[in-house]
Amino acid sequence: MPGVLLIAIASGEQLSPTTAELAGEAVRLSADLGGPVTALLAGKNIQGLAASLGGLGVEKVLLADSQGPTPPSPEWLLAAAEQAAGQSDPSVILLAHGGGGRDLGPSLAYRLETGIVTDATALRVENGQLIITKPVFGGSAIAEFSITSSPSVVTLRPRAFEAPETPAAKEAQVEAVSPSTSGDAIEVLEEIREQATEGPRLKDAKVIVSGGRGLGGPENWHFIEELAQVLGAAVGATRAVTDAGWVPPSLQVGLTGSTVAPDLYITVGISGAVQHIAGISGARNVVAINRDGDANIFKYARFGIVGDWKQVVPAFTQRLKELRG
Ligand SMILES: Cc1cc2nc3c(=O)[nH]c(=O)nc-3n(C[C@H](O)[C@H](O)[C@H](O)COP(=O)(O)OP(=O)(O)OC[C@H]3O[C@@H](n4cnc5c(N)ncnc54)[C@H](O)[C@@H]3O)c2cc1C
Repeated sequence: MPGVLLIAIASGEQLSPTTAELAGEAVRLSADLGGPVTALLAGKNIQGLAASLGGLGVEKVLLADSQGPTPPSPEWLLAAAEQAAGQSDPSVILLAHGGGGRDLGPSLAYRLETGIVTDATALRVENGQLIITKPVFGGSAIAEFSITSSPSVVTLRPRAFEAPETPAAKEAQVEAVSPSTSGDAIEVLEEIREQATEGPRLKDAKVIVSGGRGLGGPENWHFIEELAQVLGAAVGATRAVTDAGWVPPSLQVGLTGSTVAPDLYITVGISGAVQHIAGISGARNVVAINRDGDANIFKYARFGIVGDWKQVVPAFTQRLKELRG
C-alpha cells in the first residue's frame, strides 16, 4: 500500500528540528491515508542518525550516505530521492522548505512527472484527498490546493508543524541505497560556510530581534545584537540591510530570505514591506518599533511603539539587563 515518504537531508551528528516536524506530519498523514512511513536519510556520514528516525515513528529508513569528501551534489540528492520514491512508491512525499529540500522538491516533482506545492503551512486529508494550505501573495491570503497527480510532493514550512512530543518506541528497518548519477554535471569545489553567529539559529529561534534600514547604518547594528543577547534571541534583518552589506545575507528574513516562526519577533526600524512579512507570517507575536505610526508593520504587530529606536532600544536593553540581574 502506498505510504508517505519523507526526505531528510542531514549533516552533522543530529537530525534537524525540521526533520522531526516532517516525521510528525508523515506519521499523522499515514494514519489518515494508510501505508507505511518511509524516510530517505541522505547526506554525508549519517549512518548514526538512522536510529533516531525510528524514535520519530518512521518504519523504514533508506540510507543514502554520500561518503564523499564534500557535501552531496544536488544531482546526487535528486538521484537518491528518485530512487527512494521508486522503492517506496509513496502517495505523498514530504520535504522541508529549506535546508536543501526547497531546491530538491521541484526537481524531484519534475523527474516524477507530478505536481508540487511548496511552503505548505498545514495539511489535512478530506475524503482520502490531501488538502494543502499555504500563504500566497506575500502572505496576504491563504490558499488551499490538492494535487491531482501522484505522488503529491509537498515542501513544509519550518516550524509550522509540530514535532512528535513523545518518542515512538519503534526501531526502523534500515536499508542502504546507492544512488547512481551519470557523471555529475555539477561538482562542489569548495564549501564556504559563513562565520557562525552567536546565539540560537534564526530558523529555530523562539525569539528574534530583527533590524531594518531605520537603524541608519552598520555602526548601530550592535544595538540589535545587544538586545538579542539579553533576550537569548537570534538576530534577523531585512533585505535592505543585507543588500547594503551591514550584515551577512544569511540573516535576511522574508520572501527571498528565511521563513521564521518564533514566539516573539521584535522589529526595529522595519517598515513591514510585503516581502518581509512573507517570512514572518508564522510569528506568534510581533512587536514593532518604528517612528512612523503609519508604517505597514503596525498592521501585523501585537504591540507597537511609535518612536525613535534610539530612545527605545538602548533603554529597553538596559532595563532587561537590570531585571535579569
Ligand atoms: C523580489 C523582491 C524580494 C524581496 N525579498 C525581501 C525579503 O526576503 N526580505 C525583506 O526584508 N525584504 C525583501 N525585499 C525588499 C522589500 O521590498 C523592502 O524594500 C525591504 O523589506 C525594506 O526594508 P526595511 O524595512 O529595512 O527598510 P525601509 O522600507 O526603508 O523601512 C525603514 C523603516 O525604518 C523606520 N525608521 C527610520 N528611522 C527610524 C528611527 N530612528 N527609529 C525608528 N524607526 C525608524 C522608517 O519609518 C521605515 O518604516 C524584496 C523585494 C523584492 C522586489
